[in-house]
Amino acid sequence: MTAPCPFCALPEQRVLFRNGAAVAVRDAYPVSPGHTLVIPMRHVTSFFNATSSEREALLELLDTAKQQLSLSLARLATTSASMTARRQGKPSTTFTSI
Ligand SMILES: [Zn+2]
Repeated sequence: MTAPCPFCALPEQRVLFRNGAAVAVRDAYPVSPGHTLVIPMRHVTSFFNATSSEREALLELLDTAKQQLSLSLARLATTSASMTARRQGKPSTTFTSI
């Protein structure tokens, strides 16, 4: 008996983005802040076993997740830099990238 697939029963609140062939979710056990999984809806053993339309859907969500993550991390870096500057009695500094 094989274990049930954990990605087939994802709670909808974990889904960040979805399109016709894939979903993007934050990893429940992230190895780094913002670690995100882009998962095909159909079970395939690797990216290279996905159809060309599935690959296109996966890459579309990869781009979307990357853009969202870049914005989130930039906001976090700005907040962190501002808080550090305030603690040190310096004017806050705004960073646009990390
Ligand atoms: Zn599955």
